[in-house]
Amino acid sequence: MILRKTSFTASRLPHDTGVSGWVAILAERSEHPPLTGATRADIVIVGAGFAGLAAARRLSQIDPRLRIVILEAASVADGAAGRNSGFMLDLPRELSSKGHESDPQGPAKRDIYKKRSAIALAKSVAEENGWGPEILDACGRYSLAAGRESDRHLVEYAGQLDNLGEAHRLLSGAETAELTGSPAFTSALFMPGTVMIQPAAYIRAFADSLREPVRIYERSPAVVLERAGQGWVVKTPAGSVSTERIILANNGHAQSFGFLQRKLMHVFTYASLTREFDPTRLGGQRAWGATPSLHTGTTIRRIKGKSGDRVLIRSHYSYNPSISVSEGSVRRAGRGHDRTLALRLPSLEGVGMEFVWAGAMALTWNSVPAVAEVERGVWAAVGCNGVGATNSTANGIVAAEMTTHTSSELTRIFADLDAPKKCPPEPFATVGGKLTLAWKEWCAGEEAR
Ligand SMILES: Cc1cc2nc3c(=O)[nH]c(=O)nc-3n(C[C@H](O)[C@H](O)[C@H](O)COP(=O)(O)OP(=O)(O)OC[C@H]3O[C@@H](n4cnc5c(N)ncnc54)[C@H](O)[C@@H]3O)c2cc1C
Repeated sequence: MILRKTSFTASRLPHDTGVSGWVAILAERSEHPPLTGATRADIVIVGAGFAGLAAARRLSQIDPRLRIVILEAASVADGAAGRNSGFMLDLPRELSSKGHESDPQGPAKRDIYKKRSAIALAKSVAEENGWGPEILDACGRYSLAAGRESDRHLVEYAGQLDNLGEAHRLLSGAETAELTGSPAFTSALFMPGTVMIQPAAYIRAFADSLREPVRIYERSPAVVLERAGQGWVVKTPAGSVSTERIILANNGHAQSFGFLQRKLMHVFTYASLTREFDPTRLGGQRAWGATPSLHTGTTIRRIKGKSGDRVLIRSHYSYNPSISVSEGSVRRAGRGHDRTLALRLPSLEGVGMEFVWAGAMALTWNSVPAVAEVERGVWAAVGCNGVGATNSTANGIVAAEMTTHTSSELTRIFADLDAPKKCPPEPFATVGGKLTLAWKEWCAGEEAR
């Protein structure tokens, strides 16, 4: 006889290390109060990141009468969704064709369709709510090269974009210096389809735009999911919600409830935001964002606004199956970012970092999303694979469609993807994960510094 589990308890809750500069430079905001007492909902969404908010929005579009409760463990935007570099990427980082189907570009085209569906959702929320470019800016992004190897990589990637008919523009060394105000870069590639967000402002504004019958409770971690008749009761420290369906949009922490065992790899990355500096110290344009040309390299973004001119540096990955990192790891990353700043934007040497932080991401072994019914009435919308601004938004849309039996081009694309593969057993997964990241950073060479 198969005994079905009747209750799932969170073995750990998210812990965000370091102070996110994106949150710190925003004005104070009143949080939505925590959940207290017992309530009812048609669907409970666990987590108010990209996936959770997108799921709520899509559900409301499908059926505006649905009573939706979003439970967020922390303050909205404290999690990874509010502490990333703010690139909503429309193009995959790797465009190599898989070659096993009649249209070898099929996988890339479908991935682009998925990412652009996510961007369309973000833009529609921005338009409806009258957000300005300080929250969401469809300004495109650059990819910067520093050295021959990365120049070559950019040219090769630009050729693949040509084959796909995707717009782009290669910049010479001199043009790149005009953009960045720095002699450290040798070339750049401009891709117009990326949307840049102030991630904390975006997540907060998105959460605050939701209206009844969508309710959001902050500082209300889901700690127990308990089966009750045909449905579920989701318990928080001070309240509970009875519901028919649950969407787990809490990325790696879906595993903390016991779901998707050996299917998720927990990787952290690190960012710093400089102190405000006098804009005349650095030539070039005053706002631009650049991803590295090589996969595990460094992201650099220059911002201007109410909090002044600042530069964000994001680099380094670590493999942390405990889904937490120490303050020491964050401090070490910050020291690395100081060195990167001096190397890449030498006129800013000594400006120093005001904020340094880390954030968690959940990857799957075969880089596919983990969006599926994991228990009767419980769907996972996780597995951001490092680029959750678009990937997780799409995960949330598809989870919303699955829970309501709604089909779309996106659900068809997801249905054709492989399921997440099992990672090797411990200790091989951890050893392998750490070695792979170290190897990739070594391969990125100068780009990772
Ligand atoms: C420094 C950094 C830079 C990055 N840059 C980029 C970038 O430029 N572009 C990009 O696409 N991606 C970037 N990423 C990755 C991106 O942030 C993630 O992929 C994305 O946030 C994942 O979104 P999500 O909604 O799936 O999960 P999350 O953002 O992790 O959201 C999940 C939410 O669930 C909550 N939660 C967890 N457990 C519970 C529980 N039990 N109860 C209630 N709530 C719970 C968490 O507090 C969190 O708010 C970056 C990440 C970092 C750390």
